[in-house]
Parts: sequence; C-alpha cells; structure tokens
Amino acid sequence: MRRLLRFWREYARRYRRYYLLGVIALIATNVLTVAIPSFVQHAVDALAEGSDAMGWVWALAITGLGVMGVRTLSRTLFFNPGRTVEFRVKVGMFEHLLELPKLFYDRLTVGDIISRGTNDANAMRALIGYGTLQLFNVALTLTLTLGRMIQLDWALTLICLPPLILAALIMRHAVLSMFGLFGQAQAQLSRLSARILESYHGVGVVQAYGAEAGVLARFDEENDQLYALSERLLWIRAWLLPVVGGVGQACVVLLLYFGGARVIAGELSVGLLTAFIVYIQILVPGLTSLGFLIGAAQRGYIGLGRIYEVLDAPLERPEAEAAAPQGGGAPRLEVEDLHFSYPARAAGVKSAHPEGSPQRDTSDALPAQDRGGEGFGLKGLRFKAEGQVLGIFGLTGAGKSTLLDLLARVYDPPPNTVRLNGVDVRALPLNDYWRAVAYVPQSAFLFSQSARANIALGADEIDEARLAAAIEDAALEDLEGLSEGLDTIIGERGVTLSGGQRQRAALARAYYRDFDLLLLDDVMSAVDTHTERRLIEALYRRAKGQTVVLVSHRISALAEADHIIVLHEGAQIDEGSHAALISREGPYREAWRLQRLSQALG
Ligand code: ATP
Repeated sequence: MRRLLRFWREYARRYRRYYLLGVIALIATNVLTVAIPSFVQHAVDALAEGSDAMGWVWALAITGLGVMGVRTLSRTLFFNPGRTVEFRVKVGMFEHLLELPKLFYDRLTVGDIISRGTNDANAMRALIGYGTLQLFNVALTLTLTLGRMIQLDWALTLICLPPLILAALIMRHAVLSMFGLFGQAQAQLSRLSARILESYHGVGVVQAYGAEAGVLARFDEENDQLYALSERLLWIRAWLLPVVGGVGQACVVLLLYFGGARVIAGELSVGLLTAFIVYIQILVPGLTSLGFLIGAAQRGYIGLGRIYEVLDAPLERPEAEAAAPQGGGAPRLEVEDLHFSYPARAAGVKSAHPEGSPQRDTSDALPAQDRGGEGFGLKGLRFKAEGQVLGIFGLTGAGKSTLLDLLARVYDPPPNTVRLNGVDVRALPLNDYWRAVAYVPQSAFLFSQSARANIALGADEIDEARLAAAIEDAALEDLEGLSEGLDTIIGERGVTLSGGQRQRAALARAYYRDFDLLLLDDVMSAVDTHTERRLIEALYRRAKGQTVVLVSHRISALAEADHIIVLHEGAQIDEGSHAALISREGPYREAWRLQRLSQALG
C-alpha cells in the first residue's frame, strides 16, 4: 500500500484534476446506466396495460447515447494520464540507469532491465489507467445498482444476495491464487528476455559451434515455464468468467421463481421484475470487471515494485565535495593496502547491496573472512606512480582489470586505499574524477555512430586538429579508408571493426580528451609488432608530464615502463624495472623468455 501511496505522490497526483473530471464522468455514466432498467420497467408496464410506450423508448435511446458519450469521456480522462506517467517513469528509469554503478549491472541481466522498462511499465500503465477507471466504475456500479434495487424492492434484492456473495467468495479465491502466479510470470518473462538477448548477441558463436539445438533447448525450457504459468493464469480466468456468469443466471432463476410468484399474486408488476433482471445484467459484468480490475492491479503492483527496485537502486557514491587537488604537474597516484573482493552474485536487485548500505563500500560489504578467502580478491596492493608509466603485469585472472576498474572508480575502492595527489579518491566528486582520468578498458565498446563521434565521445564540437593527433597516435589511419572515412557509421548497426581497430579506436578516444591519469588495459593485445612499436612510442611521448598505468600481458609493451608491478592471484608478488624483473626467477621472466622464443621462431 505504501508503494501505491508513494507512486500517487510522485507521479499521479499532478493529474488529480483529470481523475476528478473522470470520476464525475463516471458518476454520470453510472447514474444514466442505473436509470435504464427503470425506463424498461415503465415501458413493459405501459405495454402490459396496452398504453403507448414510445416515450420510454425514446428516453431509453437518448440515455443510451448519453452513456456512450460520458463513458468515452471518462476513459479518455483516465487513460491519458496513464500514458504520460508511463513516459515519465520510463525516462526516469533510463536516466537513473545511466548513472548506476557497474555493480548494479553485474547483478541484473540486460534482458531483465529491458523487461522492467517494457512489460512492467505496461502493467503499471494499466494499473493507473484501466485499473483506476475500473476501481471507480465497479464501486459506483455496485453501490448505485444495489442501492437502486434495495430502494425498489428490498425483499427481491435479498433473494439475489446469496449467489452474489458466493460469486464474491469465488472471486477472492481466484484473485489470491492469481497474485503469486502474476509475480512468477513477470520474473519468468524477464529471464526469457535475458535468454533471447544473450542468444542474439552470441548468434555467431552459436552457429559456428553448431549449438543451435542446445540454445533452443534452453529457450524451450524457459519458454515452457512461462507457458505453464500463463496457462495456469488463463485456466483460472477461464473458469472464473463462466462461474461468475452462471451465478448471474442463478439470480435470474431465483428472481423468476420468487418474483414470478409475486407477479401472479398481483403483488409485483411485470415491469419491476423485468427491471430487476436488467439490474442483474448490469451487476454481473460489474463483478467480472472487479476480477479484471484485481488482475490488472496485481500485475501493476508487482510491476511497480520491480520498477522501484531499479529507481531505488542507490547510486552508492558518497556525495563528495572536495575539489580535485591541484598538484601542479603530474598527478601522484598512491595505492595503499588495497583489498577488494567481488560481492557474491545474487538474483535480485536488492541483494546487490548486501547490507542495504546507501553508500557503496565494497570492502565493508563483505564479511572479513571473505577478503582474500576462497573467492577472488585483491590482497593488500601497495604502489605509487607520479609522472611516469607504471606497468602492471600478471597472468590471466591475476586481477589486472579489477585493479584498473578500481583506479577508474568503475567500482569504488575501500576508503583511503587509492589517493590522487594525497586525497582519497572517494572524497573527490565522481564527475570531476572521471574528467581527470582517461580509461581504456580491455574490451572496447563502440556506439553505433560515426567513427568520428565515437572518438570524440561526449564532445559538443569536434576539434579536428585534436582528432587528427589522436588518430595519428593511436595508429588509426586505416579507419580513414572506410567507405565514408571517419563519417562511416561503425558499431552494432554499422561497419564492424576488427579487434585491433576497436582497441585503437578506444585508445584514440582516450587521447582525444584532456586527462591527468591514463589507465590502459591491455590495449595492444590485438595489434601486430610494427603497430605495437608505433603505439608505444606515441604513448611515451604523450605520457610526459602525465601518470600512466599500463596493463599488459606483452613484455614488449612493458619493457620501457618506469616501474612494473607483478600480480599473481590478486597479490603483488614482485616489482621493479624490466631489467630487474628479468634478472630473477618469476612469472615475468618466464613470460619474457617465452615471448622472446616465439618471436625468434617467427
Ligand atoms: P585477463 O588478463 O585474463 O584479462 P585479469 O588479470 O585482468 O585477467 P580480472 O579480469 O581482474 O583478471 O579478473 C580477476 C578475477 O576476478 C577472475 O577470477 C574473475 O573471474 C574475477 N572477476 C572479474 N570480474 C568479476 C565480477 N564482475 N564479478 C565477480 N568476479 C569477477
């Protein structure tokens, strides 16, 4: 209930005038509808007496037209705010999603997020449009019709009550069964969407490995579960409508039996009995609408909960106010006693924040024994870099990308473990920090826009000289040879670039920006040795007066670094210059030997 009140306050209340006018239109609809059986009554009685019934027929026709008009008006007034609210909620979700930290995305699949923004948003719209309309409509229909029936003949009304109460009890049972099923069906739809998206993304791999049958089997499995849930829901609705309809017919039978006897005894007019039968025809659809209303309300309520899970997911960044420290020269990066573990994977959004803390402190979020325990963890890293190129070497899975994600604040490091010019990075406003840092992650992401816009990402106006310098230093001239040069659309809906081109485009993107700290994660892994040489020379030229952290598997890329850290299973096991590291046994020297050997073999 609190969720609904909050939703009303935040989104729907501003449309209260629409709802008020809608309710007035609904009252008019129901008052006119309730008048119709009375006209039928008078028309039948007039016919029974052999007098002219045309006046009542005209009254019926005009009232019918009036009902049409006000009903349409009420629907417009209730449905329009629904669309606007849906728009606002979807925009709000998108804006919030753009700001959420990566930890959030580690826990929800893209399919699930899309499902919340589409299926759940539709359910929410149905709740505030159709649901609210039906809420007032059903309440008015039931009270006005029953009120009028009691006013006309309370004894005859009493006869109809037992079947109507029975119908209400059946409805309650059905509604309770449906509630759980709706929740399961919506969650299952999310899983299915995620599965489908994953298959589309990996379609090339699926085909290359002939894995279609396996993918189809997994799709079928999820689909069958959704089908089974939908079938159970449909089954409940399928028996609910005829049962409620049957109850209505039972009322008619009782009315004919008891009312008919009173007509024969001359205590009741035929017209009044006919009017009662018409009232039942109004009441029963009202009860059925109640069923649909409760269904829509349940789906909407669950959908709203799932939408609020996204909207309420904390940004988890402390509101830092410290200004970026002015070092006057190359920034000083200090890492001290840096421990980090990934929180255990969980199914829902809520569990992404194990202790419900509004601020993310990934180290505190984990039990102490987990640090450096069974799962992967960075274990007490400690190093400095100032105006130099710091190399990070490690075998696969050593924790290099995790370290860079922490330095770039993709994940916030624990307090006071990473400092820039002596200030804990957590104390720096995130946007300022990100402006000062250029980060090229291991897998480059390109948007489906021109190569030019990809490189100058986020810039209002493109500085051509700067763009040309970035392209030159990232050895990206081959993009100029594309059909429309740098204006060629690349990425998902455009030309697909090679792995090496993607890496270099991401590197050019970093070079295009102003930065103090450059973080490069294995950006030369997909280039030939000649291009690697060019890239290294340009990097060292650009690195003058900057601080660069360069992660690489390739010793050739690290050999000129001022200082190199060797990581192994999250721990810093060695450090020194290239010359020092190749002079002693260890993974660095081993890799250097193997890479020299493979170079010599051609
Ligand atoms: P590579 O050279 O292969 O890129 P790396 O040294 O960069 O490896 P990381 O990507 O930092 O290694 O991964 C270190 C460990 O952390 C791995 O065991 C990996 O499974 C784990 N890991 C990485 N990302 C996550 C995540 N989002 N959630 C949980 N565990 C993760």
